[in-house]
Amino acid sequence: MKTKQPLRPSVRKSGNAVRRMWEGGPLRQWSEKRESSKWIPYAAGGYVAQYVCDQCRRPSQGVYRAISPGKWLCGPCKQRERTHSRGTGHAAAAAVAVEQAGCGGAE
Ligand SMILES: [Zn+2]
Repeated sequence: MKTKQPLRPSVRKSGNAVRRMWEGGPLRQWSEKRESSKWIPYAAGGYVAQYVCDQCRRPSQGVYRAISPGKWLCGPCKQRERTHSRGTGHAAAAAVAVEQAGCGGAE
């Protein structure tokens, strides 16, 4: 069984990649080097900046856990998902856990 997963950088800009922070966690910009003062040291090594939306793959100030497990969405995508899942009554609305992953000081 292979434990080392191939890192698939979907967004490549100035040499940095996007990493999933933990199993089922949000995506976040990650880099070996500190690209700018926005980047903060990451405990597991390297530096991290903004979170990245699972849906549109755009960097976002904060991402929210979507109804579908393991998916982290930015504001607009979360809205869309919410409108999408309408019709199942208030249960769907309650399932939308507006859980901010935190901004990590990435302003
Ligand atoms: Zn998005």
